[in-house]
Amino acid sequence: MKHEKWEAICSRCGLCCHEKVVLDDMVVIDPDKACEFYDEDTKSCRVYEDRFSYCDRCRKINLKMAMFSPILPPTCSYVRWAEQKGLRFAKKRELVLGNLD
Ligand code: SF4
Ligand code: SF4
Repeated sequence: MKHEKWEAICSRCGLCCHEKVVLDDMVVIDPDKACEFYDEDTKSCRVYEDRFSYCDRCRKINLKMAMFSPILPPTCSYVRWAEQKGLRFAKKRELVLGNLD
């Protein structure tokens, strides 16, 4: 798939730019703890083109992640895309928004 088409799948929900942890059958994401480069107003990354050099924790969302990553929330457009194609193999987990302090 072309880069632009792949990028367009993202709904820009911003959930993957927040602190998160996988606990059994849940993905817990802290809505109050975003990456320092995440802009809450525009719901986008302030350094998107160079994000991997700015942020060690930033991960490219590729096909492998869409298929296998436990850390992507079930609402992520890539997870849904992979499910629709029969390509999602990670355990189904519930999204829980909570404080991770
Ligand atoms: S650097 Fe990565 S994790 Fe941080 S806001 Fe940008 S895309 Fe999200
Ligand atoms: S969780 Fe998925 S849909 Fe939401 S911003 Fe991240 S990659 Fe895009």
